[in-house]
Amino acid sequence: MTSSIVRRTAWPTSVSAPVVTPLQPSVVYSSPDPDALDAQYADATGYTYAREGHPNAQVLAQKIDLLEQVDPGSGGGIVTGSGMSAIGAVFLGLLKAGDHVLGGDQLYGRSLRLMSQDLPRMGIETSLADPTDAAAMEAALRPNTRMILVEVVSNPTIRVADMEGITALAKARGILLVVDNTFTTPAAYNPLVAGADIVVHSVTKLLAGHSDATLGYVATQDPDLRRAINDANVTWGLTPSPFDCWLAERGLHSFHLRYRAAQEGATKLADALAQMPGVARVLYPTRPDHPDHNRAVSLLGGQGGHMLSFMLHGGRAQANALTRAAPNIAFAPTLGDIGTTLSHPPSSSHRGLTPEARAALGITEGFFRASVGVEDPALLIEELGTAIRVASSA
Ligand SMILES: *Cc1c(COP(=O)(O)O)cnc(C)c1O
Repeated sequence: MTSSIVRRTAWPTSVSAPVVTPLQPSVVYSSPDPDALDAQYADATGYTYAREGHPNAQVLAQKIDLLEQVDPGSGGGIVTGSGMSAIGAVFLGLLKAGDHVLGGDQLYGRSLRLMSQDLPRMGIETSLADPTDAAAMEAALRPNTRMILVEVVSNPTIRVADMEGITALAKARGILLVVDNTFTTPAAYNPLVAGADIVVHSVTKLLAGHSDATLGYVATQDPDLRRAINDANVTWGLTPSPFDCWLAERGLHSFHLRYRAAQEGATKLADALAQMPGVARVLYPTRPDHPDHNRAVSLLGGQGGHMLSFMLHGGRAQANALTRAAPNIAFAPTLGDIGTTLSHPPSSSHRGLTPEARAALGITEGFFRASVGVEDPALLIEELGTAIRVASSA
């Protein structure tokens, strides 16, 4: 009797349809007969097994495609289980032993690790160069360079890459250009529109925007590249959970509003920080004192984004005092949350570097990176301002 409840029940039908995308956690899909299943595999239509694709991933991919202006005829973007798995799928799908990959020298920490340790272990050569200088990137190319990986805005020093120069270089040399657009977001820059071959995102960050889903996204307009990346995603099992996709879609709906609010807050906070006596330096791309100000204006349409960095006078004691004196601003090594978060690169992302190597990047013990959220900027300026005054007298 009771075991009969495991038999499949028909899904209740209704002439009305749900307004919200349904969450579909099913791992497997049943087909009417072997002919139908055969046809599904032959045409790659519909769903058979969730690792190969599921509706929540597809709906999310289609929405990010709109933000990145991906041509729907190209097959569209692919959602992966994390930002790192999006980068992993690109590497695993497109590289082979003997290839060389050139990376920007301030990539996300785990991307740097992939470049310095994991790719070389697989027989793939790597090197790094300064992406704010296209001539330095060109000088680092090798005859076997197959791919360039760059981020538009760097972590944590907020430098703006010479994307026009790098895109032209990659095109002229027939090298695949992969752009990690996480920091910059599609609101400020569209790599595919600008001529890159592949765009990747950590959807975990500002796109999903609530620090409750870990996901990635990768898109290309080239069907052959897309097929190879998708095969790597499915074969290596880098694919996403339906629930995470469902949450991220919900978050994505307010992306443009959150971005606008966070950017406005970041602009105001950057200007306020620059006036504070405890602050030695502020790094925000649209401020006139930023080294890449002109490029931020021309490349990003004057959009400074939601990320900024600042340096306190003093050292670790002042840094410790700052986070303790600002209990409402999460001190957490991530970005893109709905609320402002602070990170301290010398004790997190850049703790593996020597103090000299950090100094070469301009990262002092008083260096903080802020991912500005949607709070009232006045409140944020007051809280952080108070904490900086406390830190200065520590
Ligand atoms: C966070 C991040 C990643 C990695 O994304 P996960 O979703 O954490 O795997 C990659 N690139 C950048 C620029 C990031 O900020």
